[in-house]
Amino acid sequence: MPDLFIDGTWCDAADGATRDIHCPADGRHVVTVSEGGEKDAVAAVVAARSAFDNGPWPGTPAPERAALLHRLADRLEADKDEVARLESLDTGKRFVESQIDVDDIVSVFRHFAALAQAEAGRVVDTGMPDVVSRVVHEPIGVCSLITPWNYPLLQTSWKVAPCLAAGNTFVLKPSELTPSTAIWLVRALSDVGLPDGVANLVLGAGDRVGPTLTEAPEVDLVSFTGGVVTGRRIMASAAPTVKKVALELGGKNPNIVFADADLDAAIDNALTAVFLDSGQVCSAGARLVVEDTVHDRVVDELVRRAGRIRLGGPFDDEAETGPLISAAHREKVEAYVAAGLAEGATLRVGGARPEGAAYDDGFYYLPTILDDCSADMSCVQEESFGPVLTVERFTGGDADALEEAAVSIANDTVYGLAGAVWTSDAGRAQRVAARLRHGTIWINDYHPYVAQAEWGGYKQSGTGRELGIAGLEEYRETKHIWHNTRPARADWFSDDREDIQA
Ligand code: NDP
Repeated sequence: MPDLFIDGTWCDAADGATRDIHCPADGRHVVTVSEGGEKDAVAAVVAARSAFDNGPWPGTPAPERAALLHRLADRLEADKDEVARLESLDTGKRFVESQIDVDDIVSVFRHFAALAQAEAGRVVDTGMPDVVSRVVHEPIGVCSLITPWNYPLLQTSWKVAPCLAAGNTFVLKPSELTPSTAIWLVRALSDVGLPDGVANLVLGAGDRVGPTLTEAPEVDLVSFTGGVVTGRRIMASAAPTVKKVALELGGKNPNIVFADADLDAAIDNALTAVFLDSGQVCSAGARLVVEDTVHDRVVDELVRRAGRIRLGGPFDDEAETGPLISAAHREKVEAYVAAGLAEGATLRVGGARPEGAAYDDGFYYLPTILDDCSADMSCVQEESFGPVLTVERFTGGDADALEEAAVSIANDTVYGLAGAVWTSDAGRAQRVAARLRHGTIWINDYHPYVAQAEWGGYKQSGTGRELGIAGLEEYRETKHIWHNTRPARADWFSDDREDIQA
């Protein structure tokens, strides 16, 4: 079946290439899809440009754009289990987690549908009665949307929903590993009435398809979620044409536990923070920063519980988390753990593949805890994007010194996506939250987010914001229109100077 969608037509790759998708949980063949290349990417960009310059979508009134997004959300609700099944087969994640993802995606589309109509611009009071001064928003143009494999449709919805709400056209390139829900989405958008050429889908490897999407002069914005190395490359390739670039590049997120916290809740949430989706979460709480006096109690309990986490495939009701996305990714996580141990970390639990025939055909890795870590170790500074928790301790003489110690460890990273602080002292919670250089801070919680609040990173975790109000602004240009309703001469330059010969 042709899987590229260009200018309203489903087509095969220009060179006829295909790719087999296998489930990372058990290796079963999921689907064979078209594998696009540069030629397909060029065609998709041309189609998106033409649809923006000549098509109806950018000028479609906001209420109609919003209505289309609501129809898409309705379709998602109706097809929830089918979408979740596709997502779980591609990623290997638990079916129930994919169902939760679909609920989140519905709320993302509804949020941006509401926002599309609510943010029409503003009138500026110039103090001049004859002047009407308006600040208006317009779509930015053609958007390249490049998304990763860990939350394929969720990450895609964070881009597609505001992109369409603002009136843009786009070319979507999902990860080559997880194309199925992107195909579903583009098909559904077409079904609910999106004009041809507005949504274009190119599947294929990032290094073949990506450069066209990030370099082409016809593209106005690149929004990318993925690794920091790819993010740097994309930023550089977009520079010659001075495109707007939005990057979400993951993090090395500190989870700070003070001794005065509700330790039972802190421990339980620390497990979810790092081991949810086997750690393949950009905001995973992969750095436990724990006060020295409760270190043993907290870490011993985490070790006990991590050792009991049940691994399994998407449709295994007993499973609590699933496999890693690929063999290559598991090898990367293994190398990361080996480097940590070589640098002096203590392995408390995990650090290996699970044993048993049930795991032989999947890319499983045991929940792992590395204790006695410090900020100079690579395992503390680099993202593993796997089920690996590093533990650092902090201590201090008085309350201020204690907070200072925790904050300075938590900020000692090139990343700045998310972090958490656990304490029963409300003043301390607010002081620490204010000083953490990360885009999302949870106090006595970990992981929840809502579509109405901004998401994004400080420092090398990226540029720009998704979700919230800023998530729509990324996809808009802002124009100031100054209208003098009583035209008059400016008389700045003289028109009767006698010393100038005509
Ligand atoms: P990448 O950053 O390589 O991939 C993310 C997306 O970018 C994919 O669609 C990929 O395509 C595409 N891509 C790759 N190269 C280019 C390019 N030159 N131009 C344009 N697009 C490109 O992530 P990986 O999948 O390799 O994962 C690497 C690491 O990234 C992980 O180990 C993790 O640390 C981090 N990561 C962070 C995520 C986050 O949410 N912030 C999500 C996923 C990963 P394709 O897959 O087809 O090559």
